[in-house]
Order: sequence, then structure tokens, then C-alpha cells
Amino acid sequence: MAQAHIIDGKAIAAELCQSVAAAAARLRETHGLVPGLATIMVGDDPASHSYVRAKGTACANAGLVRFEHRLPSDISEAALIAEIARLNADERIDGILVQLPLPAQIDTHRVITAIDPAKDVDGFHPINVGRLWTGTWGLVPCTPQGCLILLRSVRPDLAGAEAVVLGRSNIVGKPMAALLLAADCTITSIHSKTRDAPMIVWRADIVVVAVGRPLLVRGDWIKPGAIVIDCGINAVSTPDGRSRIVGDVDFAAVQRVAGAVTPVPGGVGPMTIACLLRNTLAAACRRRGLADPLPL
Ligand code: NDP
Repeated sequence: MAQAHIIDGKAIAAELCQSVAAAAARLRETHGLVPGLATIMVGDDPASHSYVRAKGTACANAGLVRFEHRLPSDISEAALIAEIARLNADERIDGILVQLPLPAQIDTHRVITAIDPAKDVDGFHPINVGRLWTGTWGLVPCTPQGCLILLRSVRPDLAGAEAVVLGRSNIVGKPMAALLLAADCTITSIHSKTRDAPMIVWRADIVVVAVGRPLLVRGDWIKPGAIVIDCGINAVSTPDGRSRIVGDVDFAAVQRVAGAVTPVPGGVGPMTIACLLRNTLAAACRRRGLADPLPL
């Protein structure tokens, strides 16, 4: 039986990181400019630490400067917002990333809206959300941006495709739906209250899954030949008591039916970091009235 093409997110992300590095080197030569990314990490969550570390390494490899801010878990919301105000005013910094989730005493929405939209490299500020939905793209959230690049790697023209997005979070599902709509897909959004999700998914040419439920999407949900993008990162225990990461898609079963599918790990994850670098480069250029060297 034919197997789906495996979309190699690791290789595509590496290519994008190289393009960012080359564009950053040109920017340094022509304008003496080195894009700077500030990461803010509140508390000691081990998973958040490893994400922030990976982002820092990727920045250094691409020739961007990273300013690391580690803050205590009991920091007040006012103190965190004051820190963001300092970074907003710092000319060396082009991008500000606040690693989520934040501790319970802090209102995430208030923190996100405190970031200068021109430095909001996560693309979560309401101004950037509004720009995305109105077609005047500002900074586009990294994970859905990465998914779009992966989709285009196997289907450059998405116009007319029937696309289903599972999950409607502000960071993945909703911006993904906006991007697919802008690419002229017909979109359906599935969430926890949707009735008969498998039947809806079965119609789709494109399926993007971001629900955080291990192996939810099975092979018999998928129309033969569909493209399946799996954003899920779920730690599950193996029978021998170890932990491993699986996606939201039953990869082995879906691979037997789909036309193309992303693996976990090695699919969407590396793209998220590559798109963060791309956004930092874009922010550095746009803040100074320069053209974005790598437009989406
Ligand atoms: P959220 O928990 O914020 O949102 C989950 C969404 O899935 C919600 O909209 C929820 O619906 C929906 N949902 C939950 N259960 C079901 C179900 N059984 N059927 C249909 N829809 C369901 O998650 P995120 O969007 O933040 O993340 C989703 C996944 O993507 C996670 O595994 C996360 O780790 C991963 N992720 C990966 C990234 C990467 O870099 N690869 C980056 C960000 C996230 P409702 O709104 O009704 O509650």
C-alpha cells in the first residue's frame, strides 16, 4: 500500500533558518543592524525552559542577538509589565517574547497587550490579530505560520481547498484558520463542542490539528490523499515506564491513507522556532522602514 509523503519539518526549518541567517548578515553589512530578540521567562517550568533555550540557540546560530530575562515565579503583574515597558523602549530590541504559560497571579491578556505591536514577534497582540484577519498582515503567529509553509511545500497553491482546523486557541487554531482563509481555502473550525468531528474531517483536503489530545485523529477520519499537519506535542508514558512525545494524530494509521503528513517530533515544532527568527528579522526591518527580506 502507498504511504503518505512525510513532510520533513526539520529540513524545511533548517532552510528557513539559513535564509534568516543570510538576510541578517546582509542587514549587518548594509545597515550595521543586528536584530535583537528579548525572551522573558517567568518561573521554572522545565518545558518552558527547554523551549526558551532552543529559541536562544537558534537566535545565536542565525546571527541575531538574544537578551534573556529570567524572572521569579512570584513576580507581580505590574513588575512584569514594567519590564516589558523597558524592553519596548530599548532600541537594541526588535522582538519581545513572553514564554507562556504565566503564573496564576498574572493576567496573560494584559501582559500581551503591554508589548509594542511592532515588537510582538509572537503575533498575539490584538493589533496583530486584527491585521491578520483584515489582510494587512503584521507579525503572524509562529506555529500557524510554520504550518502554512509546510502546507505550501507540498501544495503551493491552496486556493479552493477544503481545510479543517481542529482547535480554536488564540495561538494556533484561530490564526491558522485566518491564514488558510487568506490563502483562499474553504475553512471549517472544529472544537470541543463540535458534533461528529470525524465526518467533518473526512471531507477535508487539508487537516491541521492543534488540540493537545494524544493520537486523537485516526486513520479512518482522513480522506485518501489529504494533507495532514500535526501541531500536537503530548508527553505520554510507554509500557516500560518511560515518557515519549506524540502528536494529536495517529501517525502510523494516517500515513497509510493521507497524501502527506507531518511527523512528531520533526514536523511543526522546528518550524515554530524558525518562524520566530523570521518574525524578529521582519520586525527589525519594518521598525526602520526597510523592506521585509523574507515576506511570507
Ligand atoms: P489549547 O489547549 O489552548 O486549545 C486546544 C483546542 O482544542 C481548544 O480550542 C479545544 O476546544 C480543542 N479541543 C480539545 N479537545 C478537543 C476534541 N476532543 N475535539 C476537538 N477539539 C478539541 O491548545 P493549543 O492550541 O495551545 O495547543 C494545541 C496543541 O499544539 C498542544 O498539543 C500543544 O502542545 C501544541 N502546540 C505546539 C506548538 C509547536 O510549536 N509545535 C506550539 C503551540 C502549541 P475548546 O476551545 O472548545 O476548548
